[in-house]
Amino acid sequence: MAQILDGVRVRDAILDECRPRVAALRRPPGLAVVLVGHNPASEIYVRNKVKACADLGIYSETLTPPDSISTAELLAMIGELNRRPEIDGILVQMPLPQQVDSKHALLAVSPEKDVDGFHPCNVGALATGRPGPRSCTPAGIIRMLRYYQLPMAGRHAVVVGRSDIVGKPMALLLLHENATVTICHSKTRDLAGVCRQGDLLVAALGRPAALTADFIRPGATVVDVGINRITDRQEAARIFRNSPDALASFDRKGSVLVGDVHPIDAAASASAYTPVPGGVGPLTIAMLMVNTVESAERRLLV
Ligand code: NAP
Repeated sequence: MAQILDGVRVRDAILDECRPRVAALRRPPGLAVVLVGHNPASEIYVRNKVKACADLGIYSETLTPPDSISTAELLAMIGELNRRPEIDGILVQMPLPQQVDSKHALLAVSPEKDVDGFHPCNVGALATGRPGPRSCTPAGIIRMLRYYQLPMAGRHAVVVGRSDIVGKPMALLLLHENATVTICHSKTRDLAGVCRQGDLLVAALGRPAALTADFIRPGATVVDVGINRITDRQEAARIFRNSPDALASFDRKGSVLVGDVHPIDAAASASAYTPVPGGVGPLTIAMLMVNTVESAERRLLV
């Protein structure tokens, strides 16, 4: 039986570590979230982030400019947050409307308040092994692997996906843990063959259940970053071919969340794997809280 890597358990452990650190500060850490327009998925993410702050005693503030905001107006709003002393972290929720220059907006966040770890200064700090906020999802994955005492040093880690927020920082963090790292993307030849070399397989490609049994080395550790909502019954039937219970649940709800790794194949081939939902998902907000607390510590405990 493969071991299930429970993200909720790891999240709770991470948040429990934050509580005394928050209590030790002379004022609550402050997080400002900029949520532009009315993207329903973004609204849910932001609500969960605000809830996590409230639970930990972190002050949070959500700014909700309209969809029509210009790049200049957003830059002015970020500039104001950069200047406010009680704000330790600034998060600009993506995606932004088309007329806004997203790269410019992310560059405008002061590197010392960049709790997403997206600013080029902090990406440089990651690449060169200097301290600084790390991208939340990959940093949470490292915490999870440590929590379950799954070795990284000397292992061959295959990361599928090279996005700036998941794939690239994941590969760099694994490299700093002394793994031997291969990064795959949409132009990789023989993706299944390369993935099968991985003692540790990290899937972050955004393709529902795309990595099937022939991509998984028997006994590998499989980390599934993907979050994909399936609404097509044929697709659900392909994925849950041997699981009438899962298919019945799809029929009741009309949709199901799946990762980038085939869930049944992961359970059958891996020695340990993250389920979707309940694996990597809960770690991202927990690491946002860690980055906010660390930013407040750097600013207050000097
Ligand atoms: P992204 O920006 O769309 O990047 C996807 C990457 O996968 C790209 O590098 C792309 O290659 C590669 N790719 C796409 N199709 C491929 C294929 N058929 N074979 C090999 N590589 C392929 O996605 P992302 O933001 O990194 O997110 C990836 C997944 O993680 C999504 O499902 C997203 O919802 C999920 N996610 C989850 C969390 C969480 O908290 N759990 C956080 C962030 C993201 P190219 O570069 O060549 O195009």
